[in-house]
Parts: sequence; structure tokens; C-alpha cells
Amino acid sequence: MIMVNARSIAGPDESFKPMELHRRDVGPTDVLIDIAYCGICHTDVSRARGEFGTTHYPLVPGHEIAGTVSAIGPGVQKFAVGDRVGVGCLVDSCRECDYCRAGMEPYCRNGHVRTYNCLDRSGQYTQGGYSEKIVVDEGYVLRIPDALSLESAAPLLCAGITLYSPLRRWKAGPDAKVAIIGFGGLGHVGVPMSAALGAHTVVFDLTMDKAADAYRRGADEYRLSTDPAIFTDFAGAFDLILSTVPANLDYDAFLGTLALDGTFVNLGVPKNPISLDVFSLLNNRRSLAGTLVGSIAETQEMLDFCAENGIVAETEVVAADEIDAAYDRVAASDVRYRFVIDISTLATA
Ligand code: ZN
Ligand code: ZN
Repeated sequence: MIMVNARSIAGPDESFKPMELHRRDVGPTDVLIDIAYCGICHTDVSRARGEFGTTHYPLVPGHEIAGTVSAIGPGVQKFAVGDRVGVGCLVDSCRECDYCRAGMEPYCRNGHVRTYNCLDRSGQYTQGGYSEKIVVDEGYVLRIPDALSLESAAPLLCAGITLYSPLRRWKAGPDAKVAIIGFGGLGHVGVPMSAALGAHTVVFDLTMDKAADAYRRGADEYRLSTDPAIFTDFAGAFDLILSTVPANLDYDAFLGTLALDGTFVNLGVPKNPISLDVFSLLNNRRSLAGTLVGSIAETQEMLDFCAENGIVAETEVVAADEIDAAYDRVAASDVRYRFVIDISTLATA
């Protein structure tokens, strides 16, 4: 067993407290990672505060992990001590089903093992990156290119791949027109990716406050999502719409802005079931879709793509004692654009 300092939360109305966490010994194909930074994802906040109803406490969240390899098992092939690496939303899957064999681990027929709040193969609950070290099988570890700092690469492990995967799946490219709804933690990495892929990229957001940031990061157009004129100005315009917001949108109105064979992809999850008129899909043969994070191979492709194109998350670094305050600001959408915990501050509490 490896003992590490972590920050955990004991219940939905509690605050984060120091905790000693046990990590498993490094197995034959395991990598021990000294964590340098861990991003704070909106999912962390929802999970810690029990909003999904399935939180196992005490909880150590964190699935945007960046650090350095400090030990490897004897069978490790891909990594060496000192390598800069990352871990995202999943740390294991069955490795045997047809989807795993096809490199589609997030869709494992037997359920992938999430980085925290998930039973692993040994029957233990996984605990995430708000901790000094983590042990992960090398098959679920990503290499962080030298061009990316660990601090700004960390959010790419969830926010980055969440946007990159649908952009690739639905072929964002030079002939495509892409809309991204919401310019926050997800949208601010999706916009430069869409632009770097060559797509004409339009941002819809609730405020104009972030327009300058969006243009700086590659947006071609930026409009208020509450402006009714967007639905006529962009009627039949988009090949792909990525919604990053957890709000119940006017689906019929947004579907009306899709071109022939266009797809609307939900990345944010509305609290209530959605409703729409099926004619909104029949016209222009449109699709309404969802997606999980990308596979391990696609996540590596995303990191390499970001390194080649100079795409990083814009971060605000916080200390371990500031996690609760950061959560309040995430819940209030008051962050530009991703909080990242400096893990070196965990030991000083
Ligand atoms: Zn996340
Ligand atoms: Zn599987």
C-alpha cells in the first residue's frame, strides 16, 4: 500500500478536508504517477454535492490529472520514470469485449471504470486526482507532449477530449460550419479545436462578456444564445452543433439551424427530460446525438493535436484549501476558464 495525502468530502453539505488515501502497490503493468495538477470539472462539483444521487463518500474527486511517472511495474512497455503523463475520466475497462478490443473503452459493454466514485475490479471505490499520487494501468495513461505545460494540459484530459471526440466523429473540417453553445470550461477548448480543424466556428453564449476571449481563441462569430434573431440568421446553416450547457434549450429552434444531415450533440446534461417536435428532425434529415469522452487512443491524438496547434486550457491555479471556494465559483459559472489545483499544496495543511 502507498499512503498519500488527499482532499476528500464526506457528504453533500460538507467541505473538503485532508485525508490519507491508500493507493494499491504498483502492479506488473501499472504506472505510479506523482500528480502535479488536477483540474476541477463541473462533474466534480455535481458529484461531490450528491446531485446525481450516486455518490459514495468520502469522495476524492478529480479526473483531469497531470503529473510525472515516479515508478513503473516490470511489465510496463510504454512509459519510463520521469515521463510527463496524464489520466482522464477512466482508469480501466474489461479489455475483452468487442468495444474494448476496438479501442472504444468508454463504451465497454461491461462498464468502464471511472477515475473516481466507481467500483474497480478489486471491489474498491476508485478515488481521483485531488491527491498526491495515483496508480493506473499503463493502458489508461496518456503521454503529455513537451509543448504543453502540465497545468494547462490537465483540463484537456476531460474538457478537451469531451469536445475533440464529437468534433472528429462528426467531421468538423474546412467545409463545415460548427456552432458551440456555451463558452465556459468546455467551450473555451472546443472553439480553438474547431478552428484548428478548419471549421467556421460560431459561439452562442448567455452573455457577451466572453466575446473577446472567444474571438481571440478562434471563433468566427459570437452571438447571444437568447437573441431570437439567431434562429433566422442561421436557419439551416450548421453541420454540427455542440451544446456544452446543462440547460433545457429550445430544441426545435436550435435544430432548425442545422443543415442537411446536420447533428446536434448534447454534451451538457439538462436536469429535466427534453422535448422536441419530430418534424425538427425529419426536415433536413437531422440527428440528435450524445457522446461520452473519447477513447484512450483518441485522447492521445487530442493531446498531440493540441500540442501541434498550441491549444491549451486557460487556467486559474488554486491551493488545496481553496477547493470549496472554487466549487462555489464553478457552480456560479465564475471562472475563466478552468480551476486547476496545485497538488504540491496538499501536504502543507
Ligand atoms: Zn470532467
Ligand atoms: Zn470492455
